[in-house]
Amino acid sequence: MIIGASFGAVINPLIIPVAVLGSTAPDWLEYVLKIFGYRVKHRTVTHVLVYWLAAIAFFKLVIDYRAIGLGFAIGGFSHVIADSFTIAGVPFSPTSDARFHLFGGKLRTGNAGEYVVAGIIALLCAGWIHLSPASFKNAPTLETSGFLPFFYDWKKEYDSGVVDGAEWRENRLKFI
Ligand SMILES: [Zn+2]
Repeated sequence: MIIGASFGAVINPLIIPVAVLGSTAPDWLEYVLKIFGYRVKHRTVTHVLVYWLAAIAFFKLVIDYRAIGLGFAIGGFSHVIADSFTIAGVPFSPTSDARFHLFGGKLRTGNAGEYVVAGIIALLCAGWIHLSPASFKNAPTLETSGFLPFFYDWKKEYDSGVVDGAEWRENRLKFI
């Protein structure tokens, strides 16, 4: 979820909620498919890397509504990328038997290394956003009026008189 949110934030902070939803999708989609009677093995059809890449390309290039599809697909992609750090890996394409691994697939689910990897990716994404603030404004399908939910600029709110000093003091160190 951290990685999904980070990837989403790079595109546009407004899509973070749907990116977080997408970041768990490859796993809960397995249950959805089971409800419909499909026999799904864990980390197979819903974890195919090229499917999620195709979904990103589709929502980015063909059709989307307020970047909801794009955010969801980026979340799903982040999940598959995160799973590719594990020993089992993920399928690269539906036709290949080879499993896709990143960094040698050294990570075990539930291990402290997961938090390290998630933290590093979050920092890289934060650095990316910091170095290219234009990414916040270049979201053609969303209207951004300078107000970003989840990322309040408390100093600006204080300067413009929206919040008082007490509220600024209380919140100034909350970054999200
Ligand atoms: Zn998974």
